[in-house]
Amino acid sequence: DPRLKAISEAIRVVPHFPKPGIMFQDITTLLLDHKAFKDTVDIFVDRYRDMGISVVAGVEARGFMFGPSIALAIGAKFVPLRKPKKLPEMHVGAVQRGERALVIDDLIATGGTLCAAIKLLERVGAEVVECACVIGLPEAKGQCRLNGKPLYILVEPR
Ligand code: IMP
Repeated sequence: DPRLKAISEAIRVVPHFPKPGIMFQDITTLLLDHKAFKDTVDIFVDRYRDMGISVVAGVEARGFMFGPSIALAIGAKFVPLRKPKKLPEMHVGAVQRGERALVIDDLIATGGTLCAAIKLLERVGAEVVECACVIGLPEAKGQCRLNGKPLYILVEPR
C-alpha cells in the first residue's frame, strides 16, 4: 500500500525515551499530518467495515486517538479501555455477550497490553475478531501473547 511509507515517516522517533536505549515511537506527529492521519484511519475502516464489528475497544491513551474515528465510520460503538495501574480495565455493562470486538492501540511491543484487553472483552462474553495497531515492534514477538487472535499492523518502526 503506497500510503504506508508516508504514515511511517510521519511517526516521530524519540531516541532514548523514556529510558536509555528505547526508541520511542511518537504518533502525535502522525496526528499533525492530515493526509497521513486520514490514510491511517481509512486503511483500518476499509479493513473492518464489513466484518460485522459492533464494538471498537481503544486502549488508553493512544488507542483513544484512532478508535472513535474508526468506530463512527464502520457503524460500531467505541469503548475506552482505561489503564489505571498500567493494564486495561473496562466499565461493567459497556459490552454485551456475543458482541464482535476490534481492539485498537497505537503500538504492540510485548503484547501484554493487548492480551489484557482481550481477556477483559472475553470475560464479558465478547468475541475479539482482531487486534489492530499502527506500529508493531518486530523483535518483541507480541503476537505470541494474543492467544491466536489475529493481529493487524500497518508499519514497523523506522
Ligand atoms: P506491550 O504491552 O509491551 O505490547 O506495550 C504496548 C503498550 O505500551 C501500548 O499501550 C503502547 O501505547 C505503549 N508503548 C510501548 N512502547 C511505545 C512506544 O515506543 N511508543 C508509544 N507507545 C508505546
